[in-house]
Amino acid sequence: MAKRDYYEVLGIAKNASPEEIKKNFRNKARDLHPDNKDSGDEAAFKELAEAYEILSDEQKRATYDRYGHEGVKGSTRGFDNVDFSSMAGFGIDDFIEFFFGGGMRSGGRKGGPEQGSHLKYDLEIEFLEAVFGTEKKINIRRLEDCTTCEGTGAAPGSTPVTCVTCAGMGQVQQVMNSWFGQTMRVIECPACQGGGQKIDKPCRDCKGEALVRKSREFQLKIPPGIEPGSRLRLTMAGDKGRRGGTFGDLFVIIHVKEHKQFIRDGETIHIRQPISFSMAALGGEMMIATVDGPKQLKIAAGIQNGTTQVMREMGVPRFNNPTRRGDQIVHLIVETPTKLAPEEKKLLEKLAELRSEQLHLTPEELAEIELKKEAAKEAAAAEVAAKAGAGAKSKAGKKEEEKEKEDGSLIDKIVEAFRPKNGDEAK
Ligand SMILES: [Zn+2]
Ligand SMILES: [Zn+2]
Repeated sequence: MAKRDYYEVLGIAKNASPEEIKKNFRNKARDLHPDNKDSGDEAAFKELAEAYEILSDEQKRATYDRYGHEGVKGSTRGFDNVDFSSMAGFGIDDFIEFFFGGGMRSGGRKGGPEQGSHLKYDLEIEFLEAVFGTEKKINIRRLEDCTTCEGTGAAPGSTPVTCVTCAGMGQVQQVMNSWFGQTMRVIECPACQGGGQKIDKPCRDCKGEALVRKSREFQLKIPPGIEPGSRLRLTMAGDKGRRGGTFGDLFVIIHVKEHKQFIRDGETIHIRQPISFSMAALGGEMMIATVDGPKQLKIAAGIQNGTTQVMREMGVPRFNNPTRRGDQIVHLIVETPTKLAPEEKKLLEKLAELRSEQLHLTPEELAEIELKKEAAKEAAAAEVAAKAGAGAKSKAGKKEEEKEKEDGSLIDKIVEAFRPKNGDEAK
């Protein structure tokens, strides 16, 4: 019978997080648990437990991902010998605790060498360093063998002695009176923590731990085009493992500072480039900042505000293939001049005149607006008057006459206001 894929058994995606794995396992285990009269299924439960055993262990999971069932053969304790029917009445959490709890997952085989812990380091680099790559020295404090006792944990001159509790085996058998009836379980020797040896006179530097924290410098090569938030792995740069285990790894998280000019979007760089409106109208060339330094860019005549121009292959080198590069996109922002010298002002006015641009409303247009306003007011007044009755009529007529007079003088005022005055132009 072909074995089912562990991810399929747990009903999760290949990239599922440890939390998802645990959650799905719990949910499915509850359904398949022997306690469940309707959906309880011993064979399926065992299959599920095995899948969880492998996928909940980071190392076993990685091996399974690469080599499949063949790779993790023998890594599972095999749930076949477990009599699950006796589990009835015990919660699923008890089951998880019994089989997977208590550090069973982290250390591999009990008493043997343990791989050291992985370490994490946050590194902030400059924008251009992320674009072109760089090398960095990083200092970390990690566990290493104690040199005083040469990693034995025993004070110089003394040697560790064989543990009497486990006779040097590192493991002891424990009889469990559990829901399985009486079962034997092999556990880590509590007297020597699985080491098989006991230290009478502990080393003073490491207090018998055999490991001490030391400061170490590592050289880190950061490839071009690295994305902010990327994780670089330095193998064997983590903590030393216990009992002669190997070093863990060091994960360096790359943080990238923002740049004051460039904005990065993957391989593309965006830049905001103000241009004068003369340049926008006439076109020309200008120097534009790029990550390679200033480069010439041709500006076409008649550019509108917000137009973008592409500078090919002036962007970020492709990660793992730096000969390919993204583009730089220049966002052209047309700037309107603000402080105008008298001569500039004259020229612009001349330009407006040449283009027959009307910069102000004409006196006629202004007068019309005023007339419309008055008409609206009168219409409102007439409405009031109509409501007030016939007596008010003559009064309204009189008012209208006055209005006409006023309007005449208003037009004169407007015309006067917009007549160019001496000295006003030169301001
Ligand atoms: Zn020591
Ligand atoms: Zn022992």
